[in-house]
Amino acid sequence: MRVLTNINSLNQLLENCRVSNKSIGFVPTMGALHEGHLSLVKLAHKDCDIVVCSIFINPTQFNDSNDLENYPITIEEDIKLLEEQSCDILFLPNVTEMYPQGLNTKQYQLNGIDKVLEGRKRPGHFDGVCTIVHRLFSIVKPNTAYFGEKDFQQVAVIRQMVNSLSLTVQIKTGETIREKDGLAKSSRNTLLSVSQRQKATYVYASLQKIKSLYGKVDCTQLKEMIKDDFNQVQDMQLDYVEIVNPHSLRPLKGKGIKEEAVALMAVFLGKVRLIDNLSLND
Ligand code: AMP
Repeated sequence: MRVLTNINSLNQLLENCRVSNKSIGFVPTMGALHEGHLSLVKLAHKDCDIVVCSIFINPTQFNDSNDLENYPITIEEDIKLLEEQSCDILFLPNVTEMYPQGLNTKQYQLNGIDKVLEGRKRPGHFDGVCTIVHRLFSIVKPNTAYFGEKDFQQVAVIRQMVNSLSLTVQIKTGETIREKDGLAKSSRNTLLSVSQRQKATYVYASLQKIKSLYGKVDCTQLKEMIKDDFNQVQDMQLDYVEIVNPHSLRPLKGKGIKEEAVALMAVFLGKVRLIDNLSLND
């Protein structure tokens, strides 16, 4: 695997690939890699000749400086894992390489889907995500880019950005990879204490509860039930629970049995914030 920190050298290498008509698959990450990230590398390998992964902790998508400061960094281990997956190129830029003009974000036409759920709780988050993903796309120029369903709204926002800018990159998604007890794998899980880690299983359990009751109980009532459940758990705060249409991200009302739906949640365990989601239809 080639590890490159510099845009010019990456450009040269990728230009050779493009000239020889090789398709490029791209997996952007913030590192502290786990099986969720690696599943996307595997997907990219199935479709593309060359797989590029990036590791960059993007400061502009963090609305909480404590979250940014504590974000786990495991570069040596990440390189080993990517080599085991036969990743071809790792792009590992620093902040100046990605933000030569300073830490500014751009505004994107996202039809409001960036303003609900995560966007409402984390103002400016999706401006940061779109700014960095757009910049990475313009550097790597991938044929296909891979994102995890774990970050459901992020995928919706990126698809919207790609459409509104008429970018040619194809967006593909990979399913959420979970621990044996259902907790969605996340780089932030490593920050949990033993007791927090145990409590974190409530997240997926609650999503499953929503799924089992969806269509039988009114959505508003269902959300209240989950809020009540979380009020019984110490040292864990529900940031939000929502049941939405997977395309518009608009909240569903009533029993909604025939409607497409996804349940999304965010919780705080101490300072660690975890998100997860589950489709309520399959
Ligand atoms: P991150 O490093 O958290 O920015 O994630 C990089 C990519 O990996 C994003 O597209 C995430 O949605 C995806 N990802 C993170 N966790 C998982 C998971 N448990 N299963 C599948 N994909 C994931």
